[in-house]
Amino acid sequence: MTGSSSQFQQLEKLGEGTYATVYKGRNRATGTFVALKEINLDSEEGTPSTAIREISLMKELDHENIVTLYDVIHTENKLTLVFEYMDKDLKKYMENHGNQNALDLKIVKSFMFQLLKGIMFCHDNRVLHRDLKPQNLLINHKGELKVGDFGLARAFGIPFNTFSNEVVTLWYRAPDVLLGSRAYTTSIDIWSAGCIFAEMCTGKPLFPGTNNDDQLTKIFRIMGTPNERTWPGVSQYTNYKNNWQIFLPQDFRMMIPNLDSMGLNLVQSLLQMRPEARITARQALQHPWFHEITQPTPVLPLADPYQQQIQDQQQKQQQQQQSY
Ligand code: AMP
Repeated sequence: MTGSSSQFQQLEKLGEGTYATVYKGRNRATGTFVALKEINLDSEEGTPSTAIREISLMKELDHENIVTLYDVIHTENKLTLVFEYMDKDLKKYMENHGNQNALDLKIVKSFMFQLLKGIMFCHDNRVLHRDLKPQNLLINHKGELKVGDFGLARAFGIPFNTFSNEVVTLWYRAPDVLLGSRAYTTSIDIWSAGCIFAEMCTGKPLFPGTNNDDQLTKIFRIMGTPNERTWPGVSQYTNYKNNWQIFLPQDFRMMIPNLDSMGLNLVQSLLQMRPEARITARQALQHPWFHEITQPTPVLPLADPYQQQIQDQQQKQQQQQQSY
């Protein structure tokens, strides 16, 4: 840990994350913007030292589709993670630029390719995300997508509440995890990627459950209720019930009508109920749906002029204040 918090000027709040409150910050020496994730340590269970060790390892995760962690600043009762600053998260991007939140298929393809590249890199380095969702996929004006918070679940445990005490969304959680599996493997991130894929196409979350049981029911309604024949071993899971309502698998063409057949094949390979049947990130990147892909498509219209004006003004004021 090399940084000190006085190196950064704290600007406006960007959001509440699962583990932390996120602020925009500015490096006083270089003027570059950063995202400062502040984690209070006082009431935390678990040893911060393990968390700090885990997080420090994340500084080594250097990939174009992973948000760079520049530094970890540890003060008495606070841990501040200094990340590369990004323009928007995918949720806000879909709200602002989507057609009723749905994105153009070209953009979906570019984002999925980048998401899978980021996931593959982390999985190759034995790091799981465990909580992938549109809110922690970050986009910049060049059309680059980077995954945020990779590895934090390992440092802090599987989230239950967010930092602001909201319940963590279960919408992207794999059925094996909902059924009580603790054998976390890379396949849990692949399920989330499949949910995000469908949501980018339709503009609506695929499985918007309200609690563990409702989440499972929402999945079964579309994927079919599993049984020992379709998923050998399913009855061994802690949360297995033998009185589930029986649903038959739905045709994915009805769920995502705007997606071509190759894309539908990919989404179904990601969204396999049995974790071991799910495609890996490496295999997904080889899928024919991605064959025509070259570079990230620039997707954001350049910065919102109104926001830009505010940012410029803020920057000018800060510079003036500093020169006094
Ligand atoms: P998270 O803990 O990653 O879910 O962060 C909460 C919110 O803060 C996100 O949904 C983003 O809107 C924002 N945020 C997080 N990290 C960054 C970043 N590196 N750059 C810009 N905004 C961020």
